[in-house]
Amino acid sequence: MLTDKQQKSWAEFLDCIQGLCSNAEFHNWIAPIQCLEETETKIVLEVPNIFVQEYLLENFKEQLLLFLPTTSDNKPSIEFTIKEPTQQPQKAASNFPLHPKEDTSFNQLYTFENFIEGPSNQFVKSAALGVAHRPGKSFNPLFIHGGVGLGKTHLLHGIGHYIHNTHKRKKSKCITTEAFINDLVFHLRNKSIDQMKNFYRSLDVLLVDDIQFLQNRLNFEEELCNTFESLINQNKQIVITSDKPPSQLKLSERMIARMEWGLVAHIGMPELETRIAITQHKAQQRGLQFSDDVIYFIADHSYDNVRQIEGAINRLCAYAHLMHVDITKAIAESVLKEMLQYHATQKVSVEGILKSVSLVFDVRIADLKGESRMKNIALARQVAMYLAKELINDSLTKIAMSFGGKTHSTLLHAAKKIEQELKTNLTLSRQIQMVKRNIQE
Ligand code: ADP
Ligand code: MG
Repeated sequence: MLTDKQQKSWAEFLDCIQGLCSNAEFHNWIAPIQCLEETETKIVLEVPNIFVQEYLLENFKEQLLLFLPTTSDNKPSIEFTIKEPTQQPQKAASNFPLHPKEDTSFNQLYTFENFIEGPSNQFVKSAALGVAHRPGKSFNPLFIHGGVGLGKTHLLHGIGHYIHNTHKRKKSKCITTEAFINDLVFHLRNKSIDQMKNFYRSLDVLLVDDIQFLQNRLNFEEELCNTFESLINQNKQIVITSDKPPSQLKLSERMIARMEWGLVAHIGMPELETRIAITQHKAQQRGLQFSDDVIYFIADHSYDNVRQIEGAINRLCAYAHLMHVDITKAIAESVLKEMLQYHATQKVSVEGILKSVSLVFDVRIADLKGESRMKNIALARQVAMYLAKELINDSLTKIAMSFGGKTHSTLLHAAKKIEQELKTNLTLSRQIQMVKRNIQE
């Protein structure tokens, strides 16, 4: 039992910080904390997860020291315990009639096994695996963000498959934000909203795709936020994908705080090596045998997103079928020309290339335009010329002029040299990838 005096200090602490943080923050982070025991020397707090503990320690250090017992080395003397997940009985809601269109089943190909790992997505894949392995017990929610076509939906479905196969009793649902909104509209119209609420709140795992579509949909936002809160409070797993990090979404403070509560993980564009592995894997899935130079060509030219790789493979596959030919690099180049040229002409300028080369190779832009024959400068200049020739759809004479008035034969010579070098020099190929990526950013 807590005595009046002892209760007072935790209560005072709460009073004090309530004035310091927003309602949403207090509601999200502080209200779920339970004070289990409080003595002169120590206080025992029960928190729903480790993130709340960290939030408290990081944000209210001073107030904790002021109002709560301290250790001899002047730290808050707090013992934390993590709340055990409550086992909620299954509700009759599992018979909930689903709106037929919303029953999004998982894409059979979007499994963890089919997701190729590389430095740009290793972390997010591990987080997804962690969540799938122990739903509700590690990062909750897991928030995955990144550009279009980088594998967010793939990972989301991967989690779904894994849970379906390994935790047979867990009830999970994968839904796009659009479908959630449609679902809500449908049930509002049919006056069956309670049924819907019960259904969502009875889930063990909720996988929500493309949360950015919730922006500017105020009424729907509140309902989804309530659903999140209800699930998180029961330690049920939520995974959310988005094209932006939570802080950049135009959503309420409360919703953003909810989404930032767990782990926010970024998924980036795979590096060339990973793209090569993905291309090989996707071609194999289609039963296609491409030679290494065709694979390299596709991977090298698909640098915006992974979906491009699939687009390229589909085109080549159709072409091979219709024309009854084996795909060579020359055929790949001509079939994909249109598709790749489109990307090649995207707003890339000589200045953009010079800037990026100067960063990656650590040489000054003035030197790139100059005449110096120092080895590192000459190489960086040749790379810039090679990229300008590859990426800019303009006359070579004009492009060459932008390099401090060089001739078009100097440009051609430089480009050839790099092309030759690229056949054997993996480091250079990596550096060039890096330059290309930086140009786009
Ligand atoms: P997003 O949801 O991020 O827009 P998707 O998950 O729909 O992207 O991915 C686009 C396509 O790229 C899918 O076919 C997916 O299988 C594929 N893809 C993306 N990343 C990888 C990867 N690392 N390994 C294998 N396939 C991938
Ligand atoms: Mg997607």
